[in-house]
Amino acid sequence: MNDIKKWIAETNKIVIFTGAGISTESGIPDFRSPGGIWTKMQPIMFQDFLSSEASQIESWKRKFVIDKDMKVAKPNIGHIAISKLYSKNKISYILTQNIDNLHHDSGIPDNKIIELHGNSTYAKCLNCNKRYELSYIKEFLEKKDNNYSTAPKCIECNGIIKSATISFGQPMPIKEMQIAEKSSIECDLFIVIGSSLKVYPAAGLPILAKKNGAKLIIINRETTELDSISDRVLNKEIGVTLDKLFY
Ligand code: NAD
Repeated sequence: MNDIKKWIAETNKIVIFTGAGISTESGIPDFRSPGGIWTKMQPIMFQDFLSSEASQIESWKRKFVIDKDMKVAKPNIGHIAISKLYSKNKISYILTQNIDNLHHDSGIPDNKIIELHGNSTYAKCLNCNKRYELSYIKEFLEKKDNNYSTAPKCIECNGIIKSATISFGQPMPIKEMQIAEKSSIECDLFIVIGSSLKVYPAAGLPILAKKNGAKLIIINRETTELDSISDRVLNKEIGVTLDKLFY
């Protein structure tokens, strides 16, 4: 902890990289912990979503179940500690794999949060990018004469509407990846918080940072495949740890 505190004190070019683990203390389950979402259901691949209306409907059903946790979630002491460090002008960017909006809710400006896997609080037409609110989608699916039998289509171009998240098999957002790569190359300290580091290309960013001279820190309850290349690993609970490190 002392070494990490010293490295934080020495630079204002820190990149924070977060995964589902930072939000478990807000009541949102992660994917790979025991009891996590992938232990209960298989992910729907992007190609299947595109080619099958049944997959689209199944995906909306799952989304509205997961949303029950997400809707009521509030930033926890881990998110707040990061926003505290941000307010000390220490952080260049927060790169997040999360889709829950909790870094925004903790008060960090939108342009400093790079959402690598999108945002689940709204939906978009995959063809023309028109934004749709989730209340509209839910109402459409739950209409008496529909009752989850047809998936919503764009009112402008009849394109497929999807939650504004990135699914397995879906291309990564270009602008976000460019900023993420540049900031990883340029930072002095890259801190991974609450990620199993199993999902690529996002998990390639800590490797990129390390190769370009940054110190790499991993804070995660379980071991990860990148522990061996990191400068320090803290297998600890995130909230209390960040509260001690970032204040
Ligand atoms: P993951 O589920 O693969 O890994 C989460 C890691 O966090 C695990 O290794 C676990 O041990 C650790 N962890 C959980 N709670 C912790 C705590 N309180 N303290 C310390 N460690 C803790 O998640 P990932 O690496 O982010 O990859 C999964 C994908 O799932 C991401 O792409 C993300 O988009 C998505 N996801 C997002 C959310 C969200 O937005 N909150 C939730 C679930 C999944």
